[in-house]
Amino acid sequence: MALEESFGNVSTELTETIISLHVTRRKFQPPMSVVSSEESEKELCCICRDEYDEGLDIGRLVCGHEYHFCCIKQWLFHKNDCPICKRTAIKL
Ligand SMILES: [Zn+2]
Ligand SMILES: [Zn+2]
Repeated sequence: MALEESFGNVSTELTETIISLHVTRRKFQPPMSVVSSEESEKELCCICRDEYDEGLDIGRLVCGHEYHFCCIKQWLFHKNDCPICKRTAIKL
């Protein structure tokens, strides 16, 4: 049963509190470019493939990779690694 499975993993399960402590959180501020003739490279969240919008919460892992905070939080509930470089995201 699924219930027993989740009980077996309790010790390694990441909680929201642990994630919040280890993921650096900030508000996204678009780069201040007064005039940009060329299309500047948009940063994308690799989890949902969407752009960062101004004011959204961004979460940065220890490896330096950034995602939407809500995306990386959901990701870490399932897998404790970085979606890009596969390094362990949170060392407990
Ligand atoms: Zn995202
Ligand atoms: Zn990474």
